[in-house]
Amino acid sequence: MLPVFGDRSMMEHEPGEIEDPSRLAAVLDALRKRPGVQLRTPTQATRGDLCRVHDEAYVDRLLATAGTSVVLDADTRTSPGSIDAARLAAGAARDAVFCVLEGEARAAFAAVRPPGHHACFDRAMGFCLFNNVVVAAEAARMDHDVERVLFVDWDVHHGNGTQDLVAGRGDSLFFSVHQGGGGFYPGTGLTSEGNALNVPLQPGAGDAEMLAAVREVLRPAADDFAPELVIVSAGFDAHVDDPLGSLCATPQGYAALCREVAAIARDHARSRMVLVLEGGYDLAALGASSVACAEVLGG
Ligand SMILES: [Zn+2]
Repeated sequence: MLPVFGDRSMMEHEPGEIEDPSRLAAVLDALRKRPGVQLRTPTQATRGDLCRVHDEAYVDRLLATAGTSVVLDADTRTSPGSIDAARLAAGAARDAVFCVLEGEARAAFAAVRPPGHHACFDRAMGFCLFNNVVVAAEAARMDHDVERVLFVDWDVHHGNGTQDLVAGRGDSLFFSVHQGGGGFYPGTGLTSEGNALNVPLQPGAGDAEMLAAVREVLRPAADDFAPELVIVSAGFDAHVDDPLGSLCATPQGYAALCREVAAIARDHARSRMVLVLEGGYDLAALGASSVACAEVLGG
């Protein structure tokens, strides 16, 4: 059984062409047909959940824009429904984490929009308003007996916001495999620093290189760190058909990545693993890749 926390009301976030609401529908529609999937309605993140991770003034400034359309960054804008959607996205990640920590399921999936891994302490960036995965981890630390959290990010873009938010923290390990170099967005993640392990890949790299990064870089570090919870920033824009990225991953490759990360969760974290959707801009690729991971996780 795989609980999937997602709701079509998050499609009210419709800021523009690239961030098309149908992206979420592609994932939910593909997953709902899986026999093991149980769709659940998430609840919104509270102001307290968000302020544990973000600057209070930033949170209040964003919450005050609910019902309006604003431009937050060169490529980050909102529609009247965006703030409710963003609170629901962070809340879905938190609900998915609570579900596995409370023993209801070993793994869970948060199918959300907007994404979160570029969102920084006090600013929105790259389609992201709140950092969903870090909000979920901090809520877990507050309400459950969990400290060491492993963040795995296989979106084609470096998870700069997540890395910044957990930098230097002994209770967090961040690993990202992404396209890097040549000015590719966001331009960070070219080297590893402290608790942040980064594996930038050249255009044209695909399943084999991503899997090697997980096996050779993540696995030994994760064995030393011994996470109690694994949260994956699961973007599917490294897919070969994605219009924004130039990597060549396939659904089979995502399944293999998911299996490797699930083995880390099994060996250290009592199998507790949550996937949180990030980017992905080809609708068919998003659906197929989500299903491939769901199958690995029991859905
Ligand atoms: Zn991305």
